[in-house]
Amino acid sequence: MNNRRNFLKTAAMASAAVALSSFTGKPEENEEPNNNLSDGKIRKPIVLSTWNFGLKANEAAWEVLKKGGRALDAVEAGVKIPEGDPTERSVGYGGRPDRDGRVTLDACIMDEMSNIGSVGCLEFIKHPISVARAVMEKTPHVMLVGDGALQFALAQGFPKENLLVPDSEREWKEWLKTSEYKPIANIENHDTIGMIALDADGNLSGACTTSGMAFKMHGRLGDSPIIGAGLYVDNEIGAATATGHGEEVIRISGSHLVVELMRQGKSPQKACEEAVLRVVKLMKNRNKDLKDIQVGFIALNKKGDYGSYCVQSGFNYAVYDDTGNKLINPEFYLK
Ligand code: ASP
Repeated sequence: MNNRRNFLKTAAMASAAVALSSFTGKPEENEEPNNNLSDGKIRKPIVLSTWNFGLKANEAAWEVLKKGGRALDAVEAGVKIPEGDPTERSVGYGGRPDRDGRVTLDACIMDEMSNIGSVGCLEFIKHPISVARAVMEKTPHVMLVGDGALQFALAQGFPKENLLVPDSEREWKEWLKTSEYKPIANIENHDTIGMIALDADGNLSGACTTSGMAFKMHGRLGDSPIIGAGLYVDNEIGAATATGHGEEVIRISGSHLVVELMRQGKSPQKACEEAVLRVVKLMKNRNKDLKDIQVGFIALNKKGDYGSYCVQSGFNYAVYDDTGNKLINPEFYLK
């Protein structure tokens, strides 16, 4: 056990060191991901989540995982942390509103048996991830949006609350002066928490939740509530989740693509790189400026190997395994 611990620790430290060092180029064809377990062991439990707020979210998820709990319960508990935090202004309560001043939330969840649930454009409910889970467990459907999602949530006993905090309202009023919709890559006007976990039983689940792009058109859905775009889990293969400009993630069915690439034998790292290269290609084909967007993927396979890649610097993610909880800056395409 001690040996295994030491090995894991060394591997994780090496991984973090490589990930945090500066990178010089696009992914090399033969470049091996730095976080694979080479001795055939499985790194579990483990949980990964996007951005800085992933650290705190991972702590909550780890509480479930370390007791042998289910990955599904872990990811729900984890993402509820930023959802409930009014100072996190891109997820749940406190999230920035749409251009009409309405806080509209998107979330989805997927378990090891391919059960799925999702809500889109949901207002007044602090924890959309739990409503998504209720859609999954208590309805014959997989996705509810807008008014229908709200009615369902209220019928399930979720309290109706004002989610627009004074800071968000002030920013929105400021924004109204120009009313120019111009999301800026990496500026925290849109970050999503996507979380994927492998539990002690070797089962995978994922959750994804966001208030979406600040000042979006009312009714706009991003990738985050869309199974296959913002999140995908295949318990035989692995799991992936996305953050960044949802329109570009939807265009390539991003998270599903990452999982399918892992199915073809790619490591989580390689799979994320290839998916980002697909985003890059479609942006270039459409003569769009890559500098204007960010897309980041994180991925985890059945062995507990993980990886990440993004369009440009600025994205980070948090990993919690039995060596501890840490933030990693992944490699990126645009230098
Ligand atoms: N993907 C989210 C959306 O498009 C935003 C983000 O993750 O930055 O709504």
